[in-house]
Amino acid sequence: LGTLLRHGAEVSTFIYFGLAIAVSLLEWVIPRRRVADTVRLRWLSNISIAIVGTVLVRSLFPMLSVAWATLCHGRGWGFFNHVACPAWLAFVLTLVALDAVYYAQHYALHRVPLLWRLHRTHHTDQEFDFSTGVRSHPFETILTTVVSFTTIFVLGAPPIAVFMMMLLSTAVTFVDHANVRVPSSLDRVLRLVLVTPDMHRIHHSRDVREGESNLSNLFSWWDRLFSTYRDQPAAGADMAFGVAGFEERRHLTLPWMLAQPFLHPDGPQGARAQIESRAPQAERGIGRG
Ligand SMILES: [Zn+2]
Repeated sequence: LGTLLRHGAEVSTFIYFGLAIAVSLLEWVIPRRRVADTVRLRWLSNISIAIVGTVLVRSLFPMLSVAWATLCHGRGWGFFNHVACPAWLAFVLTLVALDAVYYAQHYALHRVPLLWRLHRTHHTDQEFDFSTGVRSHPFETILTTVVSFTTIFVLGAPPIAVFMMMLLSTAVTFVDHANVRVPSSLDRVLRLVLVTPDMHRIHHSRDVREGESNLSNLFSWWDRLFSTYRDQPAAGADMAFGVAGFEERRHLTLPWMLAQPFLHPDGPQGARAQIESRAPQAERGIGRG
């Protein structure tokens, strides 16, 4: 029970989302009553209110991470609790290390087939705006939480740095996905250090190779360092969003978004295999849509 209480936040999050998924899938598979014609309006309203709740949970999450970092500090766990290091340096290194871990995690989410299934809910949105930023499958949110907490533990991350990173991550969630026109001169300057909406938008392209580019979270240099940077989408302003094979309207509804990890893995895996098999033509610019 002590273990359960110490992990109370994770356990309650897991149960909250687990039940929401289980029951909504069951209602969809074995409904008691015929679905009424008010379903659209009700779901819009009910899901909207659930989103408000999620926003509140997200606003609590920084404090959970900070509480965890404080606990690690109190117990003397992790790197920075063992070495003599100036506070400002520990702060900066923690921001950079956490952002590097987010890049690595994002790379794995796209490249490991099982993880891609979790991340696919985020990418099957067919438009790109701030709301795309909060469109994450609960399993991905759980994974992100576990990865963040593990990193904080290993680093012995200063609580103030963790707090700053969590605030920045919340900002990144909305700003990176903003459907906002940024003057190209400003975009150029910002992109030297930070991910901009124009940079991250390319990551939501239906073109698989564009979709596997621009994986950085806060600092844009990871993409340049690991050769996953793309400057502009091939299709320009007309670029298509989403994942090939998941263009139907139903993928914009909650049950299908929640069921996404259980759907067949065709999509980028299949599409990437296709691209790789016709790589010579693709290099010459033939056969690209
Ligand atoms: Zn992604």
